[in-house]
Amino acid sequence: MQIQGTTKLLGVMGDPVEHSLSPAMHNAAIAHLGIDYVYLPFPVKPAKLATAVAGLAAIGVKGFNLTIPHKQAIIPLLSEVSPLAQSVGAVNTVYWTERGWVGTNTDVAGFLAPLRSLNRDWKHTKVVILGAGGAARAVVAGCRELGCTEIYVVGRNSDKLAAFAESWLNTPISVPLTVHPWEELSMVLPETGLLVNTTPIGMYPQVERFRKADPLRESPLSDADFTCLNSQTIVYDLIYTPSPTQFLQQGKAVGAIAIDGSEMLVQQGAAALKIWIEQPVPVEVMRQALHQKLGLAT
Ligand code: NAP
Repeated sequence: MQIQGTTKLLGVMGDPVEHSLSPAMHNAAIAHLGIDYVYLPFPVKPAKLATAVAGLAAIGVKGFNLTIPHKQAIIPLLSEVSPLAQSVGAVNTVYWTERGWVGTNTDVAGFLAPLRSLNRDWKHTKVVILGAGGAARAVVAGCRELGCTEIYVVGRNSDKLAAFAESWLNTPISVPLTVHPWEELSMVLPETGLLVNTTPIGMYPQVERFRKADPLRESPLSDADFTCLNSQTIVYDLIYTPSPTQFLQQGKAVGAIAIDGSEMLVQQGAAALKIWIEQPVPVEVMRQALHQKLGLAT
């Protein structure tokens, strides 16, 4: 990749952004394709988001990703937001058009990619989602896209759970979900076909913090919780480091199909790059770049 006067800019805005694995993935794909682009980290404080977005338009940036804490805050700064991103309530990908900045959400496509390769009757698959934060919203939208008709969201804060349930009522997609406090988990879990962890429990380096506070808190579930699951269950952890997490190891111990968050990360990036460069992207190159960064065998 050679940066020259004609090189087009892409990037990721976040605070912090130094830890982002996206530059490695995207620049590997750009180098592989031999196209005249570069993907950069843009460290942007929340108070400077509007200035940064206007500045990126002024210098002709083609598009950018958003990570914590900007995925919701960006919405009022955009000319258009896709119906999917409106439903999710978060934008992770923005691209420039003659109408201005347009925002969409590729986390949903990223979440779905490893599931679509499994031959399932999603309509009759019971889904249980642990956590009700930002990522859980992309998971709900994804499950709805699969056609799932039974979605249970389990969380620790009743006010947030109620707000989560209500937030789907006036969106372009209707969602058949119910919310449950953590205490109802044993009632909700039997016959789960897809169990998704969207909490950060078990994630490195937080895992160290949980371990110190409570040696058993390396997974959102106990071993006993898993006994009602079986080899038909898909256990999906959005966390990608460590790999596998304790949660996935517990799932594997009962014979379940285990999916970690690395493929979601690859696929949301691939979907974003495809929007920006309007041509097929080398997903395997992006996967290898990510796995190399994560120290995973490819
Ligand atoms: P978030 O908005 O902060 O949501 C986290 C959720 O987990 C909240 O519902 C939170 O509950 C709950 N939670 C946190 N700690 C908990 C605990 N100790 N016990 C029970 N519940 C707890 O975060 P997010 O953006 O959704 O991200 C969540 C995870 O998904 C992170 O690990 C992130 O790395 C991962 N993720 C992965 C990808 C990928 O591409 N693979 C993409 C996005 C996110 P409260 O609201 O009550 O705090």
